[in-house]
Amino acid sequence: MNANNANLTLAAKSNILNGGPLPTVIAGPCSAESEEQMLQTAHDLKKDKRVTVFRAGIWKPRTRPGLFEGVGRVGLEWLQTVKQETGLLTACEVANTKHVEEALEYGVDILWVGARTTVNPFSVQEVADALQGVSIPVLVKNPVNPDLQLWVGALERLNRAGITDLGLIHRGFSTHNNKPYRNHPKWETIQQIRSMLPGVPLFTDPSHIAGRRDLLQTVSQQALHLGVDGLMIETHNNPDVAMSDAAQQITPEVLDKLLTSLDLQHELVANNEQLQDLRDLIDRLDNELINVLFLRSDVSKRIGAYKRAHALDIYQANRWSQIVENRRAIASEIGLDPDFINVIYDAIHQHSLGVQNEVFTTATPSASKAVQ
Ligand code: PEP
Ligand code: MN
Repeated sequence: MNANNANLTLAAKSNILNGGPLPTVIAGPCSAESEEQMLQTAHDLKKDKRVTVFRAGIWKPRTRPGLFEGVGRVGLEWLQTVKQETGLLTACEVANTKHVEEALEYGVDILWVGARTTVNPFSVQEVADALQGVSIPVLVKNPVNPDLQLWVGALERLNRAGITDLGLIHRGFSTHNNKPYRNHPKWETIQQIRSMLPGVPLFTDPSHIAGRRDLLQTVSQQALHLGVDGLMIETHNNPDVAMSDAAQQITPEVLDKLLTSLDLQHELVANNEQLQDLRDLIDRLDNELINVLFLRSDVSKRIGAYKRAHALDIYQANRWSQIVENRRAIASEIGLDPDFINVIYDAIHQHSLGVQNEVFTTATPSASKAVQ
């Protein structure tokens, strides 16, 4: 066995997956905010047969203190009502012994460990210890930083505590440049974690990857084409006034449209490579590439305006050689030919100079230091 692989004891059948050929969809608000918000969202979601699990954050791990930190125990009462009234399975995040005990007390069906908890083996061990002897499905989000060993380690800790119904949630990573995402998907990690943890169901959480509504469709589709077993999508009856993650949440109605727009034939690429599927994948990746190039070109324009205002030359040789060196290094690290990067960046640089020149030449003649 490869030293990187984990040797988990898994349940014969996952209670998290819907068991059918279509991906499992987990939906619900980032945070439980009120009974009305929970019930309205859940009843609307219930109309969509593709959604089988209702999620809600009860205790919210916030990067900075002073923000909304969740409603706590009362949210578990609402979650219980959701379950009684809709029959949906319920799920919430747990990060310590108290969370686990309270979630179990209120009969939550599925627990998940959040990205900020997976990074800390002490916390994961605390959750695992609290679950010793309990039979409940647990999903583990990838750690905030792209360290797959931490992710595997978290599943191992839970498995040693007797949890056999385990799943993974790919929610993107914090990298040196996440743009245009909130958390970079690092799509290659899907294949990597699958080979390290074969047989463990894998979900993608497009909401925390995208961070904004307009990217949810592409991210979801990409994940499905890479063969994930399901999606976790934050859904709120009134997303604009959500107390956390407002920019990325959608209404149940928008979720319905999004799911309908997706090609749900997942696992095609993973199991049965068809030319058309691979071409679709290329089309989507190119779409993403062009969007990123557009964002980059827009920033070049703003840099052009800055240089014009401060009477700086458009071409800055030092900056350019740093860029090329750094981009070559990034490419080498992930196994992409650095010489290919040179070719691409020559074109990108020419375009950027062109865009900046345009900004200069449309400015007043005295400010012009354009490249001739
Ligand atoms: C969440 O699911 O609302 C959440 C806090 O996610 P993450 O742990 O992925 O940041
Ligand atoms: Mn959230």
